[in-house]
Amino acid sequence: MKISFYALGCRANQADNRKIQQELAKIGWQVVCFSEPADFCVVNICAVTSGAEQRSRQMLRAAKTNNAHVIASGCFIEKIPEIDLYFKSPKQTLNYLKKIHTSTPKPIPRTRTRSFIRIQDGCNFDCAYCLIKKIRGRSRSIPPHEIIRQINQEIALGRKEITLTGINIMQYAHPGFNLVKLLEKILDKTDIPRIRLGSVDPRLVTDNFINLFKNPRLRPDCGRDSDGQARLLPHIHLSLQSGSDRILRLMNRGHTTKQYLKIIEQARDLNPLFSFTTDVITGFPGETAADHEKTLGIIKKAQFTKVHIFPYSDRPGTASEKLGHKIPQKIKKQRLREIEQIAQAAKKNWLKNYQGKTLDVLFEQKTDRAWQGYTPYYFKVNQEDRNDLTNKIIQVKIGQKNFI
Ligand code: SF4
Repeated sequence: MKISFYALGCRANQADNRKIQQELAKIGWQVVCFSEPADFCVVNICAVTSGAEQRSRQMLRAAKTNNAHVIASGCFIEKIPEIDLYFKSPKQTLNYLKKIHTSTPKPIPRTRTRSFIRIQDGCNFDCAYCLIKKIRGRSRSIPPHEIIRQINQEIALGRKEITLTGINIMQYAHPGFNLVKLLEKILDKTDIPRIRLGSVDPRLVTDNFINLFKNPRLRPDCGRDSDGQARLLPHIHLSLQSGSDRILRLMNRGHTTKQYLKIIEQARDLNPLFSFTTDVITGFPGETAADHEKTLGIIKKAQFTKVHIFPYSDRPGTASEKLGHKIPQKIKKQRLREIEQIAQAAKKNWLKNYQGKTLDVLFEQKTDRAWQGYTPYYFKVNQEDRNDLTNKIIQVKIGQKNFI
């Protein structure tokens, strides 16, 4: 079996990974590079600073895009869906992997309902704060027939939802195909009930892309005509990074706030409930109080259901590392708190729109209190039910009690 490793933070983490690698290599595991496909990927995470935590999340997501079972170890950060298993000590990780190798491999307890399909890697852009292009190189795309094959495999395993991921999926390009054409082919050639998209880059959103969300398609499992709930789910993670055009220019983002808001408007013209999540970097070099206010303003306007906030930190070799007017840590923390508050209020306000609506929920697991699952709009709901709802798409009338 193939395994890859990634260590963040202190040298102890690196040493732990090396030890596990050596032990596993002795018993026949094939250790491959982090960027290569593997059966398992061990990410030794670090939460000592917010920057390290952010990086840990990125690497966990990157590991998942390689379709590996992701084992997290080290300083724990909150559970994120990309983590399949977590072990506190390297010894526990090693024992688990040794057992897997010597016994008949058992299926790993992982989300049975949803899976990630990587459609491309790398990026052709040059955002001032980003190291990814240097690490991953230029964009390369997986051929459509291979993506269709993987989706059909997931369907055979019982999955109801796939998320198309990559470093910048909007750069998908294969002879005769861009992302729009690929999505049309997936809708046409597979029966996957629900399709989500990974992060969407606003500078590459076209009218054709938005129009894809227009056509409700028959869900293959619903046994009746389309009820208007599309297979391409009405939620987009649309990277914002800043609400100030001046800062977006410094970031070399290649889009303006006007273009950004137009995308939201177009999508909500098609479906007034269309939901958006986003990423914001606070405290980018030179960010003034007025720039920060503009970011708060756009969050209020867009009413995101989730804002991932990252305090800016220098990455070696990036263009932004060389910029002057670095923002003091104290101010970054203050701005982060303000964004959190505004984002929380905006989310609460936006979620009111779904009250009283009947939505298809894909249920995943039962907690102490109730079953939990995702709506098409990518917010989680609770539902009490005596039956086993695992991996079932059920219509739920959304009330206050359903929100998590
Ligand atoms: S779009 Fe920008 S932030 Fe995203 S991977 Fe490419 S260079 Fe990095």
